[in-house]
Amino acid sequence: MPGAFGKGIDRLCGVLAAPTARGLRRLLALALRETPTAEIRLDWLKNDAERRAFLKWLKVHGPRRAQLIATCRRRVGGGEFAGDAGEELYWLMRAKDAGCAWCDLEVETLRELPGKSVRGYAVPGKVLLSMHDFRKTPIFPKKLTLPDAGGANAIKVAAMARSLADCARLLRLARESRDVVAVAMGEIGLPARVLALREGSALAYAPVAAATAPGQIPLRDLKALYRAHELTRATRVYGVIGNPVGHSLSPLLHNTGYIAAQKDAVYLPFLVENLKAFLKSLPDFGVRGFSVTLPHKEAIFGDLHAVEPLAEKIGAVNTVTVRKDGSLYGSNTDYVGILRALEKKIKLRGARVVIYGAGGSARAAAFALDQAGAQVFVCARRPEAGRKLAKAVGGEAINRSALRSLEFQALLNATPIGMFPQEKASPLAAGELNCSLVMDLIYRPIRTKLLRLAASRNIACVSGVEMFLAQGVAQWEHWMGSKAPESRMRNAVLRALKNEENTRW
Ligand code: NAP
Repeated sequence: MPGAFGKGIDRLCGVLAAPTARGLRRLLALALRETPTAEIRLDWLKNDAERRAFLKWLKVHGPRRAQLIATCRRRVGGGEFAGDAGEELYWLMRAKDAGCAWCDLEVETLRELPGKSVRGYAVPGKVLLSMHDFRKTPIFPKKLTLPDAGGANAIKVAAMARSLADCARLLRLARESRDVVAVAMGEIGLPARVLALREGSALAYAPVAAATAPGQIPLRDLKALYRAHELTRATRVYGVIGNPVGHSLSPLLHNTGYIAAQKDAVYLPFLVENLKAFLKSLPDFGVRGFSVTLPHKEAIFGDLHAVEPLAEKIGAVNTVTVRKDGSLYGSNTDYVGILRALEKKIKLRGARVVIYGAGGSARAAAFALDQAGAQVFVCARRPEAGRKLAKAVGGEAINRSALRSLEFQALLNATPIGMFPQEKASPLAAGELNCSLVMDLIYRPIRTKLLRLAASRNIACVSGVEMFLAQGVAQWEHWMGSKAPESRMRNAVLRALKNEENTRW
């Protein structure tokens, strides 16, 4: 049976917030391209004149088939409206007159009304009673039911998620209750925002324009990339864990692949501060596998039940598969990424390859190159670290000064020098590039200063984006058990990186 707001796409709600009536109208048009349901934040309009202008326009020109929720949240409820409860109700009544079927009324306002009820006020006929906690996820019952008194038709609980356990509690609330909207705020809450609808939340909110707070997913992405309104309990859940994780391109890479290959799966970013707590919450989210990024690549070892032998040697895992019995299997596709990226350009067997750096990715590169039969050299600012890594793969450690005299087939940068926002820096000078190919593991920017130096000396270049794509594709295929739609995934990531670069410079 459909819930209070309907079903399917009706439950995706675009949030419109702008300082002017004109801006709000533009956002409404954008929202309605994606979903018929939109929340109009009257409190965000900069003054009463703008509120009046917008509602006047809405009454005459407003969309007829849309499901509009009017909100004029006061500061006491976490909104922008400076007026009192009476003024809030005034604007909600005007919104009804302009065609809004729903209004959002904070519990703080309801408490101030005579009889603690909104009945008898000419506000929109359907009332979403909202409770916000911007600091924490409070303790609430497992299940909420609509109060008989008060006149509410649905309840919204929006709470700051400070842990994945908070997210799990909010999802449980959505699952157990009817006509309850569960919103997990903050960056940690992001997975719960995507999964809310499948767990039974009556609505999922998303800003129409770019996200204005961490953890918000723009409406277009929530619909087209995460397909939040189509997910079911049968949908396989994957994700990436890291801290930070907000800039990861893995959700774009994997989800694009699922859409192109019509897989019933979704891939979410999990901001994980506490690894143990995340692992405990795996069943709550139904996670089948996850990518691991910094700072968990090594720490995860202690919790794995089995590890692929090469990952064991490398000492880092970037892919974890959750087996049917809940046990965790770790593997590493970073080395596959490095090999696939390089093998397109040179024959590795017998090639002399020098790695600059001796950290985690240098280690994956060294083992990968050794496996492929290359002769591995390591050059690191801490000679001891370089020697240790070289020894682990039967390679040779060299001093930085040797880069000017020795020749190599390929040179890899495995340091972060040259990565955004230090993109004007190069880890090495032009005179140190005595090779026929340079690969930079960095992919922000796609073409680093080092690669530009190499190109100016007619040296072939490989961007770190090739490694990122190849490791992700290998992961995707490992979990899906079928060939990945590589070109679609590649185009999506390259487009996103180029957009990022264009907006930066
Ligand atoms: P890491 O474990 O922290 O290792 C960094 C290495 O760079 C260490 O050897 C470090 O030396 C060295 N280093 C740092 N600053 C230096 C400097 N100013 N001069 C000389 N050496 C310096 O990092 P990682 O995980 O290996 O990542 C390295 C780079 O690879 C990052 O830019 C990352 O974005 C990139 N990466 C790309 C992909 C991909 O898919 N394309 C995947 C993984 C990593 P010390 O030990 O002396 O500090």
